[in-house]
Amino acid sequence: MSASLKAKIAQVFDEPGCEKNQGKSEKERKKGCTKQLSPGAAAGGCAFDGAKIALQPVVDVAHLVHGPIACEGNSWDNRHSASSGSQLYRTAFTTDINELDVIYGGEKRLFKSIREVIEKYDPPAVFVYQTCVTALIGDDLEAVCQRASEKFGKPVIPVNSPGFAGPKNLGNKLGGEALLDYVIGTREPAFTTPCDINIIGEYNLVGELWQVKPLLDALGVRVLSCISGDGRYQEVASAHRAKVNMMVCSKSMINIATKMEQRWGIPYFEGSFYGIGDMSDTLRQIAQLLVRQGAPADLLERTERLIEVEEARAYQRIEQYRARLAGKRVLLITGGVKSWSVVAALQEAGLEIVGTSIKKSTREDKEKIKEIMGDDAHMIDDMTPRQMYQLLKDAKADIMLSGGRSQFVALKARMPWLDINQERHHPYAGYEGMVELVHEIDRALANPVWQQVRIAAPWGDDGETLGAVNATAAPSALAPSPAAIPA
Ligand code: SF4
Repeated sequence: MSASLKAKIAQVFDEPGCEKNQGKSEKERKKGCTKQLSPGAAAGGCAFDGAKIALQPVVDVAHLVHGPIACEGNSWDNRHSASSGSQLYRTAFTTDINELDVIYGGEKRLFKSIREVIEKYDPPAVFVYQTCVTALIGDDLEAVCQRASEKFGKPVIPVNSPGFAGPKNLGNKLGGEALLDYVIGTREPAFTTPCDINIIGEYNLVGELWQVKPLLDALGVRVLSCISGDGRYQEVASAHRAKVNMMVCSKSMINIATKMEQRWGIPYFEGSFYGIGDMSDTLRQIAQLLVRQGAPADLLERTERLIEVEEARAYQRIEQYRARLAGKRVLLITGGVKSWSVVAALQEAGLEIVGTSIKKSTREDKEKIKEIMGDDAHMIDDMTPRQMYQLLKDAKADIMLSGGRSQFVALKARMPWLDINQERHHPYAGYEGMVELVHEIDRALANPVWQQVRIAAPWGDDGETLGAVNATAAPSALAPSPAAIPA
């Protein structure tokens, strides 16, 4: 590992904005947050993957991967991160290095690739990603990018986060470091207002940012830059002129918020767009911080009025589902989305939470879950697929909400399942998103397919072959009969 990358990782591991990190000893801190992998378990994404995920939603730049073609994979539908304009971010650019490059070095090929991308697409900037092989053969990414930048008169940004540097989460932060080192603060916005904010760690998955933006527009709050969902290079480069930063997911790019506070004095807070109460709290915090930073004081009153109207509207729309969903039991296995936000949101719809995962939750998250669910909160630290299956099989839940990786457990148990992680197909942010989530849960529970798949196979009990529920378990005990649910 190069000395500069080592130094950068050491810097990222010392995070003043993270209580847990600061509570560690000097020696412990150097190890980062990675847990030892269990043999046989999926390892998750690499640091390169993390950096790419964090930065690819900047939609108008060309994202060029310096490495073997397999590192890039399929970039087209980057976790359903949506764009309101340019589609350039979806195109996969890679230097596709070969054996000769490994022997002689891939720097020339990289330089030529940057030239080709600029000549063909004329993007406002090129982000160049380091990968394992090109880092191991010693290609100097920073030097090539600097030369290309001078030669072509365009920002060419090195993202030095090769896969072996660590896990995906570290890659998110190293992606953030690239923005801090080469992008943020390099341009000025056309104008500024006292109500300019940045949203950090929001990737506009399935267009979720657009469920929140109209609320901010109604208050006259301008999103100067979203890092990085539906982002534009110019906006990210001028993000240092915002008055307030909002962190959407503290684990991914907290280093951007803390360093922007140190460098430009921009205060930040951590908020969530998931859940009616959380959305309202977030709007309040934005208004309070903006007023403290010099925005007109009437913003507070206008925010309260908007919250009142929007909450009433959302509850009214959720009400029609309450009778059908009341008492239905949910097993919640979240990944990146904060469990407590989703727990509160589901309780608003009358659903009962039989268990929630806290694998990626911070201490504060766990406290919040206890606050919402009481001391008997069933928090699951690390649930194996077998335990998940058992919970569903024992009819302790009517539906599982999780990421795509656990979907087959639910399907084997012949239970409804809804994707709420980053690959989800429906947006669940803001007031609108909560209504959408409740609607989707209702649709999943009422889907007549569950009645069909629970019918014993004509050739006998297939429970054993499928590893599924025992045929004697009454289907009605597992999930509602669609017939019992009004259309
Ligand atoms: S671990 Fe290395 S080789 Fe594998 S995808 Fe990540 S960067 Fe590429």
